[in-house]
Amino acid sequence: MTVEPIHVIGGGLAGSEAAWQCARAGVPVVLHEMRGVEGTAAHHTDHLAELVCSNSFRSDDAEHNAVGLIHAEMRALGSLILRHADAARVPAGSALAVDRDAFAAGVTAAILAEPLIEVRRERIDAPPPEWASVIVATGPLTAGPLAGWIADRTGEDALAFFDAIAPIVHFDSIDRDVAWFQSRWDKGDSRDYLNCPLDRAQYEAFVDALLAGGKTEFKQWEGTPYFDGCMPIEVMAERGRDTPRFGPMKPVGLTDPRTGRRAWAVVQLRQDNALGTLWNIVGFQTKLKHAEQIRVFRTIPGLERAEFARLGGLHCNTFIKSPVLLDDRLRLKAEPRVRFAGQITGCEGYVESAAVGLIAGRLAAAAARGETLATPPPTTAIGALLAHITGGGAADTFQPMNVNFGLFPPLDASVAKAERKPALAARARADLAGWMAASTLPLAGGAGVGAADRRRDKPAITAAFPPQREGRLTAPPAPPSPPEPPSPADTPPSSAVCA
Ligand SMILES: Cc1cc2nc3c(=O)[nH]c(=O)nc-3n(C[C@H](O)[C@H](O)[C@H](O)COP(=O)(O)OP(=O)(O)OC[C@H]3O[C@@H](n4cnc5c(N)ncnc54)[C@H](O)[C@@H]3O)c2cc1C
Repeated sequence: MTVEPIHVIGGGLAGSEAAWQCARAGVPVVLHEMRGVEGTAAHHTDHLAELVCSNSFRSDDAEHNAVGLIHAEMRALGSLILRHADAARVPAGSALAVDRDAFAAGVTAAILAEPLIEVRRERIDAPPPEWASVIVATGPLTAGPLAGWIADRTGEDALAFFDAIAPIVHFDSIDRDVAWFQSRWDKGDSRDYLNCPLDRAQYEAFVDALLAGGKTEFKQWEGTPYFDGCMPIEVMAERGRDTPRFGPMKPVGLTDPRTGRRAWAVVQLRQDNALGTLWNIVGFQTKLKHAEQIRVFRTIPGLERAEFARLGGLHCNTFIKSPVLLDDRLRLKAEPRVRFAGQITGCEGYVESAAVGLIAGRLAAAAARGETLATPPPTTAIGALLAHITGGGAADTFQPMNVNFGLFPPLDASVAKAERKPALAARARADLAGWMAASTLPLAGGAGVGAADRRRDKPAITAAFPPQREGRLTAPPAPPSPPEPPSPADTPPSSAVCA
């Protein structure tokens, strides 16, 4: 039996993991990575899976932290990225931090040594129609022509080039003795918004804190992407002390039930996921540093004990409106041969991108083998993230999301607060084990295809083409043809705002 190769576009965290999962399930892969021929504004090497900024995979605590839990799930599923992160680990307390060069070199060497993966150093501008199965894993800095192809397939307003992230708060950490449910002018469902009132003194102190708070700077190549609807809240305050009060903090049409009056200003929160466990602070995209966000936003009445599932930000970031565009298997509804993986799906971070690459690879490999792989239960960390980006996230306000316990179906209210995270982790472990036991797809761990980790009842699948090896790890191979003069297709679509 021969199987057509899966074409993975992008050899970052997600694409490397997806390619590995496919190959280890016995399905041949062509991995197309443009670095080596053409760079990005953030990458510095030609290594696959380069970490563009921090060297941290964040918490490795699988009992109390959803990132640590997703690490554990990825290890159980034979993740290439986690294996090489563990191998390149450097001391960082309870976090998993790595020697970035050793990590990326390890991933690159493993991919090059895998007989079922062919690496091609080339930029893909559009997947040719003859490619039967494609995984687009081109990340936050997707090259302009491919972004144009995606915009053609999805509609321009379904593809973003900047994120504008407002902080997200766990619902059960909002003080509902202070915050009340009401929609402005009582239009729509009265439970659509939670409102936190500020009196004049509180508002003035809040504006002072916004103005004084430490900010992160844009990278030079990012430009300063303030456009309608995504101006940072602190920039609004810089433009006029009352500007936020006439913008996202306007109090009109809202009556504080504790006073029977309109407040001086109001901070509104809106439901952010179908489960109702996460609420975003409306219009509060921000470049304040993370610690400053926690300090400043906890001065808002009702949010004094807020726990943040995600803090705000504004970055150059190509991503699609996955909740409406993708099916539950990460396939583009309009063109199901094309799957998406990694940060372009609207997950956020190295770990999440690799996790979505892992599941995209396994789903694509199962399909190529003629098998049906159930999606992981939403009670697992990988399943919760997948469910969020493929439908659980609110489509109209969709912004990149980290994995966090707010994405998981909640536990029974009788579970004590201190016990909830370990209980969610225990449920995830049990449900992942059940899902893995029910799967017929070979696991990616172990010595490889054909070895002990391959299920005995599955026929061996041979590559449909002889694998070719890439010659070197870091030095760019010669481009296949002389560089072409710039054409309109080489520039990002007009809606792109990233330099
Ligand atoms: C400046 C910056 C700093 C960041 N800092 C952090 C951080 O500190 N921590 C964190 O967790 N996350 C950080 N991120 C987010 C991080 O980039 C992602 O979490 C992660 O790298 C995404 O993985 P990915 O595989 O989806 O994309 P990437 O790792 O970016 O991989 C995408 C790959 O696709 C290639 N590619 C693009 N277009 C094409 C094409 N048309 N044809 C062929 N190849 C193509 C690119 O060269 C790249 O190798 C940062 C992002 C940026 C832009």
